[in-house]
Formats: sequence, C-alpha cells, structure tokens
Amino acid sequence: MVDLGSQYLRIKDEIDKAVQDTLSSTQYIQGPQVKTFQAALETYLGVRHVIPCANGTDALQIAFMALGLQPGDEVIVPSFTYVATAEVIALLHLKPVMVDVDPDTFNITADIIEKAITPRTKAIVPVHLYGQSADMEDIMALAEQHNLFVVEDNAQAIGADYTFKNGVVKKTGTIGHIGCTSFFPSKNLGCMGDGGAMMTNDDALAAKLRMIANHGQQKKYYHDVTGVNSRLDSLQAAILNIKLRHLDEYSAARQSAAAFYDEAFQNIQELQTPARQHNSTHVFHQYTLRVKNSRRDDLQAYLSEKGIPSMIYYPVPLYKQKAFEKYVPAGFTLPVTEQLCREVISLPIHTEMDGELLGFISESVCSFFE
Ligand SMILES: *Cc1c(COP(=O)(O)O)cnc(C)c1O
Repeated sequence: MVDLGSQYLRIKDEIDKAVQDTLSSTQYIQGPQVKTFQAALETYLGVRHVIPCANGTDALQIAFMALGLQPGDEVIVPSFTYVATAEVIALLHLKPVMVDVDPDTFNITADIIEKAITPRTKAIVPVHLYGQSADMEDIMALAEQHNLFVVEDNAQAIGADYTFKNGVVKKTGTIGHIGCTSFFPSKNLGCMGDGGAMMTNDDALAAKLRMIANHGQQKKYYHDVTGVNSRLDSLQAAILNIKLRHLDEYSAARQSAAAFYDEAFQNIQELQTPARQHNSTHVFHQYTLRVKNSRRDDLQAYLSEKGIPSMIYYPVPLYKQKAFEKYVPAGFTLPVTEQLCREVISLPIHTEMDGELLGFISESVCSFFE
C-alpha cells in the first residue's frame, strides 16, 4: 500500500545525518529539533501554535481534555472513520454521537451534523477522510450558531488547502478551534516511529494543550491540572524536519497517481472514483473507490491473486463496534456508512509510484470488470 523503503532511499543521506547528529547530541527528549520542527510546521501551516505530542490519538485526547467538557457531554463524530476519533471521547467519559457521511466525499457535512445537535452537544469532530477537507466553512458557521467547539481530525489530510467563499485559503487543521494530526509512518507526513501534533490559533488553548501534554505543569514540579506525558522525541522531530520540506512534492506525487487511476477507471460503470470537492484540494492519503453490485470482495480477492495489495478503510461502522455498544440504541443504523463499509476499497497510493506500477495496478483492476 505504501513504499516507505524507496521514499527513505531518496532522502537517506539527509535523514541519516539528522539521526546521527541527534544521537551524538544526546538530547533525546525536548532537544532543539523539536522546537525547530514546531516552528517549521507553524510556518508551513500558517498557524500560530503547533504543539507536538506522541501520536495522533494523544493529540485528540489532549484536545478534548483542554476543552473543559463535563462527563456525558455529547461530541458529534462521523461513524465512518478510524476508531481513534471516537475512542478518546469515550475514554474521557464524553458521549460520542455517531452520524452518517456524504456518499461522495465520505465526510460529515453541516446538514448532517445539525440534525444530531441536542442541548448536550458540546463539540464536533470533522475528520478530513482520505485527504480531503470536510466543508469547514459551513461547519464553523453551524458551530458558532450553537456555541460548539470544533476539533479537526487532520491525521489524513495534512497539507490540504480549503478555500473559503471570500477566497481565503487555509490549511486543514488550522480552521477549527483545535486541529490534530498524526505522523504515523504511513501518513502523508510520516516519521519513523510514532508522532503527532495539535494546532491552534488560540493562545490560551495553546498554553493549555502544552501544559496538559506535559503532566499538567507550566513550571517544573508545579502541576496545575491532571495531565499526561505525551512528547514528540528529538529523533522523530529531526526526521520530520527533513520530510516536511518534501511534503508538497509528496502531495503532488499522490495527486498525479490519483489522476492516473481516475483516467484508467473512467469508463468502468461499476466503479465510482473519488469525488473532488470544489473548495478543497485532495492530498490522497488514500485512493478509495466504491465498487457497485456487491463485487468489492471479489475484486479484492482478484487483485490479491495478482499480488496487488488493497485495503478496506473501514469494514465496520463505529456504532457496530463492541467497544461503542453502549452509546447506540439496539438496531441503530446509518445507511450511507453501511453502504460504504460494503463498497469501498483503497488501492496502493504513495510517493514512489511510477507509470509501470500504476499501469499494472490499473490494468489489473480494469481486467476484473472485462
Ligand atoms: C491515523 C489516524 C489517527 C491516529 O493517529 P495515531 O498516530 O496512529 O495515534 C486518528 N484519526 C485518523 C482519522 C487517523 O487516520
């Protein structure tokens, strides 16, 4: 699905030197690499504050800890997403309220969210699934109207641009009150271990996030709130400092692979290629097709026989997961999520694909439908 080996080889000299320098420095925790990366990412994203942490799940958890919500407060989340989004909400004794998604963009919309708002709703988590922004302008307007926090799960869309109606362009993850991202190796900006970060333009929230991520202390050994220990280590920061410089070129490589696939599949009636939203760029964390006529699993088996990997993100709606049983009434169902779980398939997409590889994969997909 990804080719991290070839990607590493292309920047091996730079990475090896950064790692070696960090090893020699012995500042493995909170070394200068972390501050350098923080500043570079703030500049890249055009956001006042980046707060690095240990992984994307922690970023979401710390974000929710900082909002000062009460047990039982409701948080609206898409049911078609990675588990982490809802997991941290449950962990903090908040109530995940799962909603359906748009069948074309796979993201939640203001219309869908509005129907789920109750007097207990306190926050919304738009997930920019597969690399394309949810419709943030409408979501922010709705949130303001109902006095709700917006926490963006930007783990799959770092680098994507969202354009407002007045022409202003912002990076995903910098539009809501807090944005969260992951530097898991296979993410669009991946390190070589675990890593994550929170983003915000709010100075007070930034101070709170930083404090919670650091044992609830602002001054060493003086703990104002119950926090956690969540740090991006210096080695990962050193690696990310290099990879961030390549992020736009990585996004462009993913976009051209996606364009290749789109063209190859345009005449296959049984496939729906990924929709592009007019106000967001798509950085293609995943290239995800919908397969009609219940043929998805057969296509996956066919590709597998040819040695082509594919993945189902995600096979089970969150509300059908045992872990979330208690948050949904018996028989609860969301039709689009159900259908997507049956129809989606993600093809290999990464920064190292050449015409030969793309040709082989797309010809194989096409031959299944002949
Ligand atoms: C990867 C991912 C996360 C979690 O990130 P980790 O660094 O693995 O903890 C959260 N949300 C979404 C949508 C993701 O894809």
